[in-house]
Amino acid sequence: MQLPLLRLCPNRKQFYCFRVVRKYRPNVNSVCDLLQEIILLSLYCSIILLLVYPVMSSKLFPCANTPDVFLIDTHCHLDMLSYPQETSKILSEAMKCGIGQVVSIGIDYASSCIAAKLAAGYNNVFATIGIHPHAAESATERELQKLASLAKDATLGKKVVAFGEIGLDYVKKYASKNAQQDAFERQLDLAKKLELPVIIHDRDAHEDTLRLLRSHGPFPRGGVMHCFSGDIAFAEKIIDLGFFLSIPGVVTFTKATVLQEVVCTIDLKNLLLETDSPFLAPSPFRGRPNQPAYMLYTAKKVAELKKISLQEVAQKTSANAAALFRLE
Ligand SMILES: [Zn+2]
Repeated sequence: MQLPLLRLCPNRKQFYCFRVVRKYRPNVNSVCDLLQEIILLSLYCSIILLLVYPVMSSKLFPCANTPDVFLIDTHCHLDMLSYPQETSKILSEAMKCGIGQVVSIGIDYASSCIAAKLAAGYNNVFATIGIHPHAAESATERELQKLASLAKDATLGKKVVAFGEIGLDYVKKYASKNAQQDAFERQLDLAKKLELPVIIHDRDAHEDTLRLLRSHGPFPRGGVMHCFSGDIAFAEKIIDLGFFLSIPGVVTFTKATVLQEVVCTIDLKNLLLETDSPFLAPSPFRGRPNQPAYMLYTAKKVAELKKISLQEVAQKTSANAAALFRLE
């Protein structure tokens, strides 16, 4: 039904509005046309919102609905996450996403002290102590003794739960291979003496890592290969040592096919989950600073790859972590 424009707009103001509409949509000649335009516009907006909202909401609110799971982030550098201003907020965000406990990792004496302090201050935070391969040159006898005292500090109760991260990093090479291997070996021995499980960092150093672990084993308290980056054959060798493999957010990346294959093949009883926050944020947060809350996405990916429920992934990996670190 076509109506003359002037009849549609009895007063000047309406007439002007209609003219503006017609400027951009010249085929609007009637109220029906106008309504049709409005409906179409709303439809376009709804489609755009439907497409954009899931991405935006996941970026802004990692967990719109708190999932009914209890996960443990077994490797997180809480001291690198806007410590101490944001720590409470980060932990409560994690809780909303089902991450009930967090292990904060030491990479040198200073960060080990902060991890221990955080563990003393928060019920659901546990600490580890150790000297990272990047800082291997600083692993003097005196530093190691200071770490040992921290582990034995009675005021911390049993909240220093592991020795690490220690190991070898042949990618960055901030310390020479010799210095790294020496620091690694001495810390492996110290961990055994302190009766703590070990957390191993291995980047492009599979052979040497395995050789040193074998020559210093067995490890009665076990250990974990943090941020596992090998193939199935290497995974089996690590499991033979009585160690767990810890799966990072990298598993959510499309190109991480080798790691995805490892997750599909290796039994859940050998796996732990971690964020390595603030590094290696999983998809859809890739490129942003990682935080414990995002581990839910890693857990969901593991469930998808293994074709099991998120609840099963949470229940088994958390039981593994609690057993390794003797979490209470
Ligand atoms: Zn780390």
